[in-house]
Amino acid sequence: MDAQARKKAVYRAKLNAKKKDKRIDSPLVRYNELEQPVCRVCDLVLKSESHWDAHQVSRKHHELEPAIYLHVKDSYMIWWG
Ligand SMILES: [Zn+2]
Repeated sequence: MDAQARKKAVYRAKLNAKKKDKRIDSPLVRYNELEQPVCRVCDLVLKSESHWDAHQVSRKHHELEPAIYLHVKDSYMIWWG
């Protein structure tokens, strides 16, 4: 691998790492096959990770949240020890 190619590879790896960092780390969010974040509570596909903050405080989400908390409680315990 020449220097130019290595630079490119490093750049790409960094980009990927950045992308990963952006992923929402919440048991209430899953990713679908298109790598889109999906709210488990509302079963709503978020257009991007940045929509999650706004969505979390939305009224619809809060109305549904208690039910899903009970529903995912067991896996929640496993994930969070
Ligand atoms: Zn929601």
